[in-house]
Amino acid sequence: MNSKKIVVLGSTGSIGTQTLEVVDSYSDRLSVVALAAGTNADLMEKQVRKYKPAIAVMWSESAAKSLKEKIKDTDTKVLQGMDGLIEAATYEEADIVLTAVVGMIGIKPTIAAIEAGKDIALANKETLVCAGHIIMPLAAKKGVKILPVDSEHSAIFQSLNGEKENKISKILLTASGGPFRGMTAEQLKTKTVEDALKHPNWSMGRKITIDSASLVNKGLEVMEAGWLFNVPVSKIQVVVHPQSILHSAVEFEDGAVIGQMGVPDMKLPIQYALFYPQRLPMNERKLDLFSVSSMTFEKPDPEVFRGLSLALRAAHEGGSMPTVFNAANEIAVAEFLDKKIRFLDIYDKIEKAMDAHKVIANPTVEQILEAQAEAMEIC
Ligand code: NDP
Repeated sequence: MNSKKIVVLGSTGSIGTQTLEVVDSYSDRLSVVALAAGTNADLMEKQVRKYKPAIAVMWSESAAKSLKEKIKDTDTKVLQGMDGLIEAATYEEADIVLTAVVGMIGIKPTIAAIEAGKDIALANKETLVCAGHIIMPLAAKKGVKILPVDSEHSAIFQSLNGEKENKISKILLTASGGPFRGMTAEQLKTKTVEDALKHPNWSMGRKITIDSASLVNKGLEVMEAGWLFNVPVSKIQVVVHPQSILHSAVEFEDGAVIGQMGVPDMKLPIQYALFYPQRLPMNERKLDLFSVSSMTFEKPDPEVFRGLSLALRAAHEGGSMPTVFNAANEIAVAEFLDKKIRFLDIYDKIEKAMDAHKVIANPTVEQILEAQAEAMEIC
């Protein structure tokens, strides 16, 4: 059997390492042709020795230098920076590119991969939030698949199987509510980085874990779902479901609600994206409804969790505003993780950047990057 050749952008991160675990389970069906990461040259060395990719990319110059030295006895070519990411994403032999870098850095390599005709397994939601108006039509033009890796979007994608002719009346996008679910703004004032990193159900990278606590992540996911499924944001309802068993659902015009359930484990949506439309056995814990016993659903509180209301405002204003929302959040989260600002300052920074921005409709990639730079300066 011919193995599917994959590129993993962000291979040293939470999604990247879980993707490589899926490769380990199906090494007869998947082979890794290129890997890319930011700074972690030690882990990249281990990955290169194990998966023997043709290309390994490090974003940072010093990490690339260090990796080159470490693996000089191998045949893997070491590249650096954006040129390296683009070369990896467009590697001739690759069939599919899994984008799991964190942040807007994913935009250019994703566009380059689509232009080169590669299918995309998309984890990097920031890319679609900022450049969905470029990516979705380009993917359609090139006939490439955009396969969601985000668990909620994978659930929606799975719920839409065989429903091409049927209209979506509503998307029910579930949210665990994060570690601060049910708290008041007063309680959020004193929350620390350690508190925010304690996600009740999911183990993820640091940035998305903070975004989950602030509900910025859910806001980004609303915009991501809008692009992926061509549904107006007004038809996407966020539902807080603390058990994280129903990973999202679709309501059709006849009132039928079809959703996907499972234990909270990212390997399922990763594997589904890599082998779509095939479902292959997975040797992980399975859902036991008797031990779940009850599932509950609540309305989110967008007044306390302003990450959601600001995201909806950004989606409504459109154009370059989602970029400003996202860029301001990226800066604010980095500062919060560095303990330079407090949790609620994240919202204030996003709002300040959005208030100062004049929306550009249908921004080009360059205009998106300019809007990012402007938002970062304001923050
Ligand atoms: P992590 O922080 O765990 O990993 C990020 C990865 O990106 C690392 O490999 C990191 O490399 C790499 N990276 C960072 N900056 C650069 C850069 N400039 N150039 C190249 N590589 C870079 O993040 P996650 O895996 O949690 O998340 C990745 C993406 O997936 C995000 O967009 C997130 O929103 C999305 N996502 C994550 C989920 C999860 O469960 N974790 C669920 C759904 C979506 P290094 O470590 O070497 O610096």
